[in-house]
Amino acid sequence: MQVHLSFDYELFFGENTGTLQKCILEPTQQLIELSEKNKIPLIFFVDAGYLVQLKNNSQHSQCKSDLEVISAQISQLSAAGHQIALHIHPHWEDCKFDGDKWVIDTTRYKLSDLSKEEASQVISKYAKALFAITGTKCTAYRAGGWCVQPFSHIKDALKQNGIAIDSSVYFNGYHDSPAHSYDFITAKDKAEWKFENDPCVEDASGSFKEISITPDKIGPLFYWELYFKMKSAPEKFKPLGDGMWLKDKGRIYNQFHSSTDHFACADGYFSSRLIKNLEDCEQKKFERMTVLSHPKSLAPCSFDYLNEFILHAKQRGHTFAILN
Ligand SMILES: [Zn+2]
Repeated sequence: MQVHLSFDYELFFGENTGTLQKCILEPTQQLIELSEKNKIPLIFFVDAGYLVQLKNNSQHSQCKSDLEVISAQISQLSAAGHQIALHIHPHWEDCKFDGDKWVIDTTRYKLSDLSKEEASQVISKYAKALFAITGTKCTAYRAGGWCVQPFSHIKDALKQNGIAIDSSVYFNGYHDSPAHSYDFITAKDKAEWKFENDPCVEDASGSFKEISITPDKIGPLFYWELYFKMKSAPEKFKPLGDGMWLKDKGRIYNQFHSSTDHFACADGYFSSRLIKNLEDCEQKKFERMTVLSHPKSLAPCSFDYLNEFILHAKQRGHTFAILN
């Protein structure tokens, strides 16, 4: 089996975005050390809209210097053989730096909130921003907040930019709020498939490949455990990022009261589940396992669990790879 460790490389989008240093640079530096020690490649879905806005706001010295240091890290990752892939949060188009912090407007959170023409321009502009740093074209895409639907809205622009792999779908994934929605209920429980117009519908002659995020059904007991661990040992279990998530009270309530559909993830204490996630993939005879995490949400415990997971997966004969 090929194991893909992917990271959505971004700030937070709640009331406080957090700092570049704590949310991105420092946890990614720890990932670089982990990858060097284990000699494995990683995948970074870079939130390219942030880079574009750093440039647009470069009259502020903080934005100018942040753009320099983040570009240096992305370039270092790419040169070391890690994959730089395209991650789009189009609401960056509506965000501004006020001289002190980012003012985030998530009214247009999904690419489908933009006209098709505008969405196409955003895709090309963001893909170019990454190419300008790495000198390599992105071949894989993950939608911000999993909002990849309707795919027909973005299909042509992805194709024009040489992107033929999507990794936004997870089995049974579903969310519906005014800003933020996706519905993967009709997707199959498979690790990859070809598609053309809808990433949830397999089409053997399709020109796109879905490399789906490995699903994980999680019972409420896990969330209670997570809650108490964060309270009792924050130095081990609390995320390293210093910002705030977009609020979603309904989702949190459900997680504490019933089994919910999540995905294989190394964020915080979720990383303790990776070996079990791998065993599930082995049992289903999957050809891939795809883990989605965020540098901002990694906790000190994540690196220990990740290290243990990598050793275990290698012992079981699996290989770590970029999306291909
Ligand atoms: Zn994201």
